[in-house]
Amino acid sequence: MSAAPAGRLAVVGIGPGAAELVTPQAAAALSEAEALYGYGPYLDRVPARPGQVRMPSDNREERARADAALTEAASGRSVALVSGGDPGVFAMAAAVCEAIEAGPEAFRRVDLLVVPGVTAMLAVAARIGAPLGHDFCAINLSDNLKPWTLVEARLDAAATAGFVIALYNPASKARPWQLGAAFERLRGHLVPDVPVVFGHAVSRPDERVEIVRLGEADAARADMATLVLVGTAETRVVDRPGLPPLVYTPRFAREAAR
Ligand code: SAH
Repeated sequence: MSAAPAGRLAVVGIGPGAAELVTPQAAAALSEAEALYGYGPYLDRVPARPGQVRMPSDNREERARADAALTEAASGRSVALVSGGDPGVFAMAAAVCEAIEAGPEAFRRVDLLVVPGVTAMLAVAARIGAPLGHDFCAINLSDNLKPWTLVEARLDAAATAGFVIALYNPASKARPWQLGAAFERLRGHLVPDVPVVFGHAVSRPDERVEIVRLGEADAARADMATLVLVGTAETRVVDRPGLPPLVYTPRFAREAAR
């Protein structure tokens, strides 16, 4: 048994953008930390505190960032690793768990705290009504860490099972064709008037939310800051005079809804 000081690592979700969507637990974990790690633009959203060290990194170096944060925590310090949205949804919490499982014994002694945050699909859904009111799933459309054939199999399964589908990471400069291919795939299972929501930069100053139908959904409308929700045949769009439409999925469903 070693008596080495076990530090602390908080993996903190800071929500989709707006300061009021940062939970009090997240704000406390961020202000208590001696060092902050994370993707640069996420760190920029955290209020500065004198004496706190900031270690911004590139978006793609998740595992290296997890190792660095754990190494510093294992040396006895209190460290926070910042994630957008919720840290457990396609984000840093799993990278930290991987690093702890694969890393030195000292990583296992770190006091790990995962602080949940408002994930993008909940923020987008709340903006327009209740599209996730019935069974739903979330699929990461990035094929950086899994083969595209697996994405296709999951899209088929989700659509044929009648799930509303939240698509994270629908597009980026390096992945321009995937969302169009996903829409084509889904059109093979779903009727053309299924509602599709493009939620761009929700809760940030450049927020834009568009409601279209699957038949005419244009993948070019999505970018890295967009979450796409694909409804089911049960999902309703309710027009309102002078107000944006409401999108919701009823709490009841018929058997084998498509
Ligand atoms: N951990 C994050 C998701 C990381 S994956 C979370 O829980 O939200 C990054 C993807 O999240 C983006 O490509 C986009 O699909 C979505 N996203 C993150 N913030 C968003 C926002 N404010 N508005 C819309 N989509 C967002």
